[in-house]
Amino acid sequence: MPSGLIIVTGGSRGIGAAICRRLAADGYAIAVNYAADAKAAEATAAAIEKSGGRAQAFQADVADPAALRDLFDKATKALGSLAGLVNNAGSTGRFARVDEQDSVDLTRLFAVNVTATILACKEAVLRMSTRHGGGGGAIVNISSIAARLGGLPGLVPYAASKGAIESFTKGLANEAGAEGIRVNAVAPGMVETDMSQPLLSQAAARERIESMTPLRRVGVPDEIAEAVAWLISPAAKFVTGSVVTVSGGR
Ligand code: NAP
Repeated sequence: MPSGLIIVTGGSRGIGAAICRRLAADGYAIAVNYAADAKAAEATAAAIEKSGGRAQAFQADVADPAALRDLFDKATKALGSLAGLVNNAGSTGRFARVDEQDSVDLTRLFAVNVTATILACKEAVLRMSTRHGGGGGAIVNISSIAARLGGLPGLVPYAASKGAIESFTKGLANEAGAEGIRVNAVAPGMVETDMSQPLLSQAAARERIESMTPLRRVGVPDEIAEAVAWLISPAAKFVTGSVVTVSGGR
């Protein structure tokens, strides 16, 4: 039975909450991070505890480096030593053509999706790397098929932020592999969550997305969590620097 703590950023809702539940079922203690929705985060942690797992909610805006460091300190103090990290918290940024974007929105988008992922990995490496006295571990970064496809209209900067996640995943896997840390990414296609709701609630947009998808449907959060759980688990012990696409074929 695997043990140790996994920190899941943005674990309160959607894909992150499914990842928390799935990893808890595998036996890990879970730090459910959230930014604003305390009720959702507490509900995710409570559901895990109710089914016999260990979980606690921790508020931290991952784009705030001090709050991010604090998250790692508090979570390890409360739930034990770190075995893994899932960088799931993400934002689409502002829906707009590139010629309508501004630097404030872009800076925030990259702070949440990219810089926070890199700094969270830094905190994880400092705790898990054998170079720093740790016992190794696994990291999964949540990308998107947008990294490869360039993003839906209005989401080009989002796609670029996910492209950065995939390059970073490969690079950190190279850097930390000999120190006992595996680093992989999961690239979901369109998944039914609050994030995709503005699009999927429009019948025409939904139909278009479904018709572009070989399996002719959008995904559900549990289908993404399954891939994350495999990459974190010892079953994937020879897998690092990989991007696993879970997208219904897109
Ligand atoms: P979601 O339903 O909007 O949930 C986002 C989660 O991230 C929430 O738990 C939210 O916390 C948290 N979060 C957002 N900003 C944060 C911040 N600055 N600090 C800490 N937590 C923050 O999103 P989702 O659809 O589950 O997406 C999860 C990941 O999958 C994202 O990286 C997204 O880019 C990626 N993805 C999603 C899809 C899709 O179709 N849904 C497709 C491909 C990739 P609060 O509850 O406190 O707001």
